[in-house]
Amino acid sequence: MKELLNLEEKTWKLYEESKKDIQKIYDEIDEICEYNTAKVLQAFWDNHISEAHFSTTTGYGYDDLGREAIEKVYSHIFKTESALVRNQFISGSHALAKTLFGLLRPNDLMLSITGLPYDTLHEVIGIKENKSSLKSFGIQYDQIDLINNDFDYDKIEKYLQEHSVKLIEIQRSRGYSTRKSISIEQCEKVISLIKRVSKDTIVMVDNCYCEFVSLKEPSEVGADITVGSLIKNLGGGLAPNGGYVVGKKELVDLVAEALTLPGEGKDVGPTLGINKQFLQGLFFAPFVVKNSLKTSIIASAMLEKLGYFVDPTPKEKRVDIVETIHFGNEKDLCLYCEGIQSGSPIDSFVTPVPVNMPGYKDKVIMAAGAFVQGSSIELSCDGPLREPFIAYEQGGLTYESGLIGILKAVNKIVKEKENIK
Ligand SMILES: *Cc1c(COP(=O)(O)O)cnc(C)c1O
Repeated sequence: MKELLNLEEKTWKLYEESKKDIQKIYDEIDEICEYNTAKVLQAFWDNHISEAHFSTTTGYGYDDLGREAIEKVYSHIFKTESALVRNQFISGSHALAKTLFGLLRPNDLMLSITGLPYDTLHEVIGIKENKSSLKSFGIQYDQIDLINNDFDYDKIEKYLQEHSVKLIEIQRSRGYSTRKSISIEQCEKVISLIKRVSKDTIVMVDNCYCEFVSLKEPSEVGADITVGSLIKNLGGGLAPNGGYVVGKKELVDLVAEALTLPGEGKDVGPTLGINKQFLQGLFFAPFVVKNSLKTSIIASAMLEKLGYFVDPTPKEKRVDIVETIHFGNEKDLCLYCEGIQSGSPIDSFVTPVPVNMPGYKDKVIMAAGAFVQGSSIELSCDGPLREPFIAYEQGGLTYESGLIGILKAVNKIVKEKENIK
């Protein structure tokens, strides 16, 4: 493969040494994948999934057998009363926005306990002015920052004693920040505190990038409602778009009425031929998550050996599929993204360049040669052009293709460092 890909000797050495170091971690990831695959299969068995569920509806989408079965399968996996799994959700951001609009009313107070939420939610909440934000409807927002990568338990307890909080948001994955992602154990601890002090506060979890990385999901440790994207982990690379919301029936029904319309809620929503992709994507999801994790780990190991600060480190326990690499300068960040792009199955011949993007202060560079536009369960890498020039890398539908992307990206950096043309 070294010759086939025209890799430098140094790149290949880095790979061979890295591979030896991480075999044990790979074994642990295999076990988690086995467990989560069993979880998915059991949900399919219990719901008698059959070819009939690949059929579809158009128009209103009444009585869509497949859609109803998919939602039962999701409820089974997440151990929730109800689920809303829809192609009418554009992606995770839309599912999060509809959840907030469905659950919050004027004068309600929403509290984030993981600091500033994900970028696309700023205009939804009204952190950045927008005439259609929650704030414009009189919904208030406040946040408590993490301390030392954990919840500020004392501050949260005091805040809940002094305020009437309708909904608490926990965002597990880090987004474009430098904090660590939040584990299931941390979720469990903070949710039990919240329920002790303020039992009626709704706990909502943004679970993007975290599904099937661990043995449990947030709904199994007390989250009232859990939300995520189908162009990430649970779509398994096959879902062409979509989002999911799982949780208590009463809450999921409210979100459904915000997504469709009051009075119809979950009863409408044509699936337009998507059921098979949602089911097969979910079937593949634990395996694709495993491949993504292994891709992140090999990247982490090789770039750490090259002298960069990486987070998580290769052997660290993972909570999501994201790897961050602190390049420290614009040139290395761009080279790395160019290398990832050149190893992609789609658009391998284009060169990503940093551009201004709506919602971002700094220019952003993005490598995304994906079958599904914007899909980040496929090998992808992006980063805002600001200190300390961090690449956020994730995905890898197959470990082998993920690895090849990483090898090509690392090779670019090696050549630059060694001054090889
Ligand atoms: C990716 C992401 C989202 C948004 O999901 P999309 O499907 O890209 O809209 C929301 N929150 C977090 C933490 C994310 O990583």
